[in-house]
Amino acid sequence: MIELQSISRLYRSDEIETTALHGVSLSIRRGEFAAVMGPSGCGKSTLLNILGAVDRPTSGQYLFEGEDLAKRGEGALAQHRARHLGFIFQSFNLVDDLTIAENIELGLIYRKGRSGSRRTLVEAAMDRVGIGHRARHFPHQLSGGQQQRAAIARAIVGDPDLILADEPTGNLDTENGAQVMDILKGLNAAGATIVMVTHSPSHADQASRRIDMLDGRLVASVAQAL
Ligand code: ADP
Ligand code: ADP
Repeated sequence: MIELQSISRLYRSDEIETTALHGVSLSIRRGEFAAVMGPSGCGKSTLLNILGAVDRPTSGQYLFEGEDLAKRGEGALAQHRARHLGFIFQSFNLVDDLTIAENIELGLIYRKGRSGSRRTLVEAAMDRVGIGHRARHFPHQLSGGQQQRAAIARAIVGDPDLILADEPTGNLDTENGAQVMDILKGLNAAGATIVMVTHSPSHADQASRRIDMLDGRLVASVAQAL
C-alpha cells in the first residue's frame, strides 16, 4: 500500500538542525496492523505524518499504491487524505463547541452528498464505536474513553482504508484503552490498514507487526502472530 524509500526529514529552526528521520525504508502492506514503538523524540510522529501525507520528506521517495505523491499539489494531497486516511490522536482533538455528531461529520468535510446520507453515515460510525446515544452531547459531557471513541468515529466515518493512530490509548485508563484496542482490531479485521504509535507493550503485542525506532531509524520490524 505504501512504500517509503530512504526517507529523511530534517527540521531547521534558527540555527538548530534536527534530523527526525534518517534514511527510513518501510513497506506498509494492505490489511496489516503495525505498532510503532520507541522512546520520545525518536521520530514516531514524524513517520506517521509522512505516512499520512501531512508532511513531506526532505529526501527519499513516498509511494502510495505505486504513485509518487511528491508530484501532487496541496489540494490534491488534501483530497488524497480525505479519501484514504483517518487520523486518531492521543488528545482526541474534538472541537469543544460542536456536538459529538457535528464533530464526527467533520470527517466528511470533503465529501459531497446529501445531508440525509451524511447523517446516516455519522449514525453508523457512532453505533460502531458504541456512542450512538451521545449525538447531541458536547465533548466535555463525555468521559475520556467516550471522547476517544467519538474521535475514532470521526476518523472512520468516511470509510478510510488507512488509519493512523498516534498514541490513541495514551490518555486512557486500562479499561478504556482496551476498548479502543478492541475497536481498532475490529476495524482491521474489517479490512482497514492501521499504523499505531504506542508506548504500551501489551497494546503493541496485539498488532500484526511491531516496528521499533531509535534516533530516527527503524531498528526492528517483526511480524507477530495474532
Ligand atoms: P516522537 O513522536 O518519537 O516523540 P517526533 O517525530 O515528534 O518524535 O520528533 C522527532 C525529532 O524531531 C525530535 O527531536 C523533535 O524534537 C524534532 N521535531 C519534531 N517536530 C519538529 C518541528 N516541527 N520543528 C523542529 N523539530 C521538530
Ligand atoms: P459509558 O456510558 O460508556 O459507560 P462512562 O462510564 O465512562 O461511559 O461514563 C458514565 C457517565 O458519566 C456518562 O454519561 C458520561 O457522559 C459521564 N461522564 C464521565 N466523565 C465525565 C466528565 N468528565 N464530565 C462530564 N460527564 C462525564
